[in-house]
Amino acid sequence: MTAVAAYRRILLKLSGEALMGERSYGIDEAVVARIVKEIGEVTALGVQVGVVIGGGNIFRGMQGAAGGMDRATADYMGMLATVMNAMALADAFARTGIAARVQSALRIDQVVEPYIRARAIRHLEEGRVVIFAAGTGNPFFTTDTAAALRGAEIGAQIVLKATKVDGIYSADPTKNPDAQRFARISFDEAIGRNLQVMDATAFALCRDIKLPINVFSIFKPGALLRVVCGEDEGTLVHS
Ligand code: UDP
Repeated sequence: MTAVAAYRRILLKLSGEALMGERSYGIDEAVVARIVKEIGEVTALGVQVGVVIGGGNIFRGMQGAAGGMDRATADYMGMLATVMNAMALADAFARTGIAARVQSALRIDQVVEPYIRARAIRHLEEGRVVIFAAGTGNPFFTTDTAAALRGAEIGAQIVLKATKVDGIYSADPTKNPDAQRFARISFDEAIGRNLQVMDATAFALCRDIKLPINVFSIFKPGALLRVVCGEDEGTLVHS
């Protein structure tokens, strides 16, 4: 059966750890190549893809601050780390023959385009993957919040949050064998059950503007395509 996409435009949030594979730091090129191939399968269906990339595989602001660094300074370093990941991803797209552009929320014009919403939308309409780097451009935020924000700005129909776990569970599945995966859950129920879906700011924004979130595992081959085709994969958080 030919795959049919359930969405026209999506925002995919990839954490920095997703690029790390089995390593404890940095970028695993083979893992990046696989993720790029899977995103290519989605764009081949005509789906417009925006990506927000994290930086936790290189630097996390909270860790820097815990080491005594000024929090805002550490957060700017974290945002710069996301630019490196974005560039690695864009390079992998280029090698695969998929058109992609990086737009940064912090200006580094010699390196990547600045974030310009109208231009990002234009890239998407022309079939180019847009990788949003440097988070929101503000310290004290996370790339989860950037994903919700950019998702809202580009009019994405859904935010896909790629994680290590294949959805949201009633308890920690690594500790509790009876933990059940939710196929679907409402924003209100997720709050009522105190389930961690995205960070609180990102979650609140998605809930306010009724932007659904699908949490799924990027380590499960084919999962991204199944989510995009609206199949039961991971957990759909809805209004
Ligand atoms: N960051 C920030 N503002 C943002 C996005 C990110 O200050 O809008 C910083 C923050 O220090 C964060 C780091 O960049 O720890 C990396 O982002 P994040 O932790 O969200 O990456 P992930 O966990 O997804 O790899």
